[in-house]
Amino acid sequence: MPELTVTFVDRTGTSSASHETFKAGIMQEFVKIFEDLLYTDAEATVINSRWVSHSPASEDQDLVIHWVPDRDNSYLRKTWPSVQIATNASGHTFVDTNMTGSEFYRRPRLQTPLAYAKIAAHEAMHNISGLGNRQLHGQNGLAGDPVGTPHLPITDNDKTLVQTGMQRGLPAQLL
Ligand SMILES: [Zn+2]
Repeated sequence: MPELTVTFVDRTGTSSASHETFKAGIMQEFVKIFEDLLYTDAEATVINSRWVSHSPASEDQDLVIHWVPDRDNSYLRKTWPSVQIATNASGHTFVDTNMTGSEFYRRPRLQTPLAYAKIAAHEAMHNISGLGNRQLHGQNGLAGDPVGTPHLPITDNDKTLVQTGMQRGLPAQLL
């Protein structure tokens, strides 16, 4: 049975009851998107998910996505100082030879948990497929339109990209 553990790391430096509620909403929407992406008639899929505030331990990390204040506070750049992030990016994924890192940005502020979940799921697609902007964008759906903006509903092509990547095995994650 396919099983995926998703860890979101909150690096926004924010803490309040409403922030926690909003985070729970992002994860709930993200899991819904991934249940669709991983769905097959053949077998059930289990998705485990959690928010943490510090780097998780290295074992059992399938998919790790960092939530940071904005691109000026990129967590990816702490590991890869030369990484290029588009000015208008809502998130970024960097694929290195031995490790992959994904992050999404709290600012500019999006209105709904679903809006953030869509960005996080798009970055997860980069992460799992190993495809950069030029290869992934323009395939439409969650893979993104030609300028890289992801759209719902997911497409069959989105499902193929993610399920193929899962079968190949996920890359080591930036923790
Ligand atoms: Zn993208």
